[in-house]
Amino acid sequence: MKFNVNDLVRKNIQSLKPYSSARHEFEGEASVFLDANENAFGSTLHENFNRYPDPLQWQLKFQLAKIKGVPAENIFIGNGSDEVIDLAYRIFCNPAKDNVIICPPTYGMYEVSGNINDVEIRKVNLTENFQLNVEGIMQACDANTKLLFICSPNNPTGNNLNRADIEWLLNNFNGMVIIDEAYINYSAQKSFIAELTEYNNLIVMQTLSKAWGLAALRLGLCFASLDIINLFNKVKPPYNINQASQQLGFEALQQTLQVNEWIRVTVEEREKLSEQLQGFLFVEKIYKSDSNFILIKVKDANKLYHYLCTQAVVVRKRNTEPLCEECIRITVGTPEENSRLIELLKKYKD
Ligand SMILES: *Cc1c(COP(=O)(O)O)cnc(C)c1O
Repeated sequence: MKFNVNDLVRKNIQSLKPYSSARHEFEGEASVFLDANENAFGSTLHENFNRYPDPLQWQLKFQLAKIKGVPAENIFIGNGSDEVIDLAYRIFCNPAKDNVIICPPTYGMYEVSGNINDVEIRKVNLTENFQLNVEGIMQACDANTKLLFICSPNNPTGNNLNRADIEWLLNNFNGMVIIDEAYINYSAQKSFIAELTEYNNLIVMQTLSKAWGLAALRLGLCFASLDIINLFNKVKPPYNINQASQQLGFEALQQTLQVNEWIRVTVEEREKLSEQLQGFLFVEKIYKSDSNFILIKVKDANKLYHYLCTQAVVVRKRNTEPLCEECIRITVGTPEENSRLIELLKKYKD
């Protein structure tokens, strides 16, 4: 990389003196805590819920470090990936001045978060076969381009983006490259976490909301160099991950066998569902998926969507996204749910 990451950081963030919480300042052993104005008697719910949680979630991070094969210091945990995205904007992008690049059709939060932060969004659509338009991305950049969001496997298209394209961009894009790997567990693609030491402009996002089955706990993961992680820690709200999520997340991370089994069945069901969908005349295209959902192009997306709604099955309309005309995104469910969907489609009159 030809540039210094610190030069990309907003001046006010570079000079920010972060809030120092009671839990942060005291690091020794103590048995009497009179430093944080907590309720010393306890909580009616759980023995430690009266205390502020660990601001840096070390227990959870050490467990993640073992699973992911990265040092715990290189992990940041957000209140969902959405917090990681928002913090990236706040760390790197000056409102009303800087811009970022996204590659539609893709995850909606990159744009919403940019709009909230008053940061210009430059859209460089994926190619017809849902791959990165590398040349277009480079042409869209200027001196104020700070971030490039790459989602792989991509939502809503479901496919992996070519690794060589991403590597080329990591080497040539003069800003931070944020690779969102929310669906990496369902893909044969290798995670970019293994490349953290190679690129100082790389931020990898993952989440416990999908394969790990913890969407309700809001645990978004971010992997990056120590310098970048320190910036996230500096800007985040002091107790962004609540104690219940920290504890339950830690427990859930012990259950790798269960999670791997879910992943195996989901991938199996995905392939089966893709095959079965090919049998319907109103299905015009089934896109190859490396995730836990399938994008299909149908004759009339609105009509199919409403039909399924009347049968109490909800899928996601994506037909207003670029390159996704008449497209519907279907999450792979349990074998029973998938069978039910197929049975309903057999009765559908297009
Ligand atoms: C589901 C999803 C996430 C996860 O968001 P959380 O806030 O962690 O639940 C992130 N990125 C993409 C592309 C997703 O589809």
